[in-house]
Amino acid sequence: MIYLNEPVQLKSTYISLDSRQIYEPTDTAFFAVRGLHHDGHQFIESLYQKGVREFIVEKIAWHGLLAEKAKSWSNTSIWVVTTSIETLQHIAHLHRTSFGLPVVAITGSNGKTTCKEWLFTLTKSKFQVVRSPKSFNSQIGVPLSVWGIKNQHTLGIFEAGISKSGEMNRLEPIIRPEFGILTHFGKAHSKNFEKESDKLLEKLQLFRHTKKLIYRASSNTDPAVKEAMQVINPTCELISWSTTDPTQSIYVYWKITGKISQLKFQKRNQSETFLSVKCALHDVASLENLSHCLIQAHFLGMTNEEINAAVIGIKPVSMRLEFKEGVRNNQLIDDSYNNDLDGLKLALPLFKRYEEKSKVLIISDFLETGIEEADLYKQIAQLVKQQKIVKIYGVGAQIERNKQFFNEINTYATAESLVESGDLTDLHDSVILLKGARKFAFEKIVNALETKTHCTQLEINLETLHHNLNYYRNLVGKETKIMGMVKAQAYGAGAVEIAKILQSQGIEYLTVAYTDEGIQLRNNGIYTPIMVMNPQVEEFDKMTSYALEPEIYNFSLLKAIDEYSNHHNKNIKIHLKLDTGMKRLGFEMNEIEELNDELNQMPQLWVVSILSHLAASENPTHKEFTLHQIKQFEDASQAISNRLGYKPLWHIANSAAIQNYPQSRFDMVRLGISMYGVSGNSIEKKSLENVLTLKTYVSQIKNVLKGETVGYGRIGQFKEDGKIATLAIGYADGYNRSLGIGAGLFEIRGTLCPTVGSICMDMCMVDVNHLPEIQEGDEAIVFGGKIQIGTLAKAAQTIPYEIMTGISSRVKRIYIRE
Ligand SMILES: *Cc1c(COP(=O)(O)O)cnc(C)c1O
Repeated sequence: MIYLNEPVQLKSTYISLDSRQIYEPTDTAFFAVRGLHHDGHQFIESLYQKGVREFIVEKIAWHGLLAEKAKSWSNTSIWVVTTSIETLQHIAHLHRTSFGLPVVAITGSNGKTTCKEWLFTLTKSKFQVVRSPKSFNSQIGVPLSVWGIKNQHTLGIFEAGISKSGEMNRLEPIIRPEFGILTHFGKAHSKNFEKESDKLLEKLQLFRHTKKLIYRASSNTDPAVKEAMQVINPTCELISWSTTDPTQSIYVYWKITGKISQLKFQKRNQSETFLSVKCALHDVASLENLSHCLIQAHFLGMTNEEINAAVIGIKPVSMRLEFKEGVRNNQLIDDSYNNDLDGLKLALPLFKRYEEKSKVLIISDFLETGIEEADLYKQIAQLVKQQKIVKIYGVGAQIERNKQFFNEINTYATAESLVESGDLTDLHDSVILLKGARKFAFEKIVNALETKTHCTQLEINLETLHHNLNYYRNLVGKETKIMGMVKAQAYGAGAVEIAKILQSQGIEYLTVAYTDEGIQLRNNGIYTPIMVMNPQVEEFDKMTSYALEPEIYNFSLLKAIDEYSNHHNKNIKIHLKLDTGMKRLGFEMNEIEELNDELNQMPQLWVVSILSHLAASENPTHKEFTLHQIKQFEDASQAISNRLGYKPLWHIANSAAIQNYPQSRFDMVRLGISMYGVSGNSIEKKSLENVLTLKTYVSQIKNVLKGETVGYGRIGQFKEDGKIATLAIGYADGYNRSLGIGAGLFEIRGTLCPTVGSICMDMCMVDVNHLPEIQEGDEAIVFGGKIQIGTLAKAAQTIPYEIMTGISSRVKRIYIRE
């Protein structure tokens, strides 16, 4: 049935916008959404084949073959709408209004997810809570979260985040909260907002209909919140709290001593505290988040006793997702977010990143889900079944009792007994997803499976990488493709992982320096087109069998590839490299005519693209030269395209040129270093986020007496008594020898510590005399925290590229998603 412009009344229980995350196809409505570089409509036919019978599609995309075909699909509802997302928001709003439960909405700059999880922890003994999964707080995340409200729920807790003005007005009717919490209000996402106060006003729109709003009265929020709420919702009771100002609604007293902190709450004009709790948190940000939640729990009618019993369960919220290399060519995915059904649903698609490996799942009991036990494990088994998992390891008594629902499961009482059983040693070439409740201490399993444990490591934040990629997507627009430069192990970040994330984001092309690098990608599930910059004639066979496309930069290569293609009677895709001034590789400008004549004789070669490379796009002093290069490139590419009779992709811009020379973007840009947030451009510096953090740790701490020397050659001199720390990084790891004798700095406990003496092969020493609290085992950040790669590069008298690619292969790479 095709419904055109009719009010959507979904027949399905579940909603999905992601074709990879559909678990009950026959009972799921798929919303096709068009993104900048992604179109959900593409997946409709294959989803129909998988059993999906309800689709929400957009008018503008609903025509042609597919629309024709779909007319004959039986038992299928297709709702043709103007925009899928607005439709989703609208039905979520209708869904919300059909339930009368109290709802708490949380917004702010930081701490939304933590507050949501903690409020859940505090209230779950008294309420049946429905809440946002993970940090689902966007224009899509909020309606999906609200869609989860069911009859049995007695409390809703939802977070709302916005990045542009106008967005909160759309989220408010979907959540329609009775209670509000404004968490810490700082500077995050401030790019699209004119002024701080606009941002605050926008966020407060979420509370247009709330009865109570909790916020901390700080210089950022007070009296701004009071003034704004006077206009937005004058009848709302404002519950402002402060640790310093007794005139606010609630005076909060924090006593922070070592491990246990004490919190007391007292209402204005009352002499007694109404709530007093102890907790194991001791940083100010956590106590602020917790204070919001405790006050909210009180206003939800929870007693002092109930709150104190629940507060024991409050722990830092970990959203970390770590991708780690395992022993025996295993890949570990360590997901420490809640192991409830929603958490599992979010985690299972991660398997898709490693199609070439066999799938293994290690899970513990699912605690406190509120679902009857047998039913719960039946549901888990159902989810897991669709994943073609070869082996499941279950840890805990519940899963053991319910193992009959699973195929291929072994169960163990504890993580220790699993490790001690020796069963893990059977695992090789697998992708292993670990999802354990905290109580089951899955760290032990991770330790047993990880390649290297405590050591120097490079953390690669996939979330910020994604953010940076999006920044360039928006900058270059729809018409311009992006080529991801993943040569040299993606600048040291790990070619396979980076290529995977770029591929999943729909990057159009990838580039490597050598054929073997391309083969490595192909062997790891990368199907995106790949250009090879230094092809060897002897490797043409390998290249064609792995669908790698050579860059052709001179006549001898051109002739060789022509002969090869004739001999094997194959059409071959090539990329033509022109030299417009770099003087490295490429056809010279005076060779273009000859090149055209040659190409004219080689119809079986398909010129996919024409490229050149800029020599100084990062440096404004060479602006004239760069503009000349661009002009030469344009002229030559035009001549070649005219002669070919078709237009290959033109590309010349590297990272720096994308921002500095918009006219150089042509059909495609080649994004390299800026993907990692490294840029010399001040606009970009503000917009990009750091991706790479190199960390080591303190192996030993020593006192040094006046007159003693440190390290080789006795170069480190001490004129006074002092203290040094020995760190587990040296020049063999890529920490350049030129960073010795105070040139290099490390960040330890937030303090910068200079090197002492010369850098050794595997270690170096730093002065920590000014850091009395330092301990062995402490983390020492090489770059990525206070020290930027660029700063370190300057200190080492080199450039970020060399620092990044110089991090040796023995340094463990860890991939992180927040
Ligand atoms: C490495 C490389 C790039 C990318 O350079 P960035 O400065 O890292 O963006 C682009 N084009 C060619 C030919 C390269 O070799």
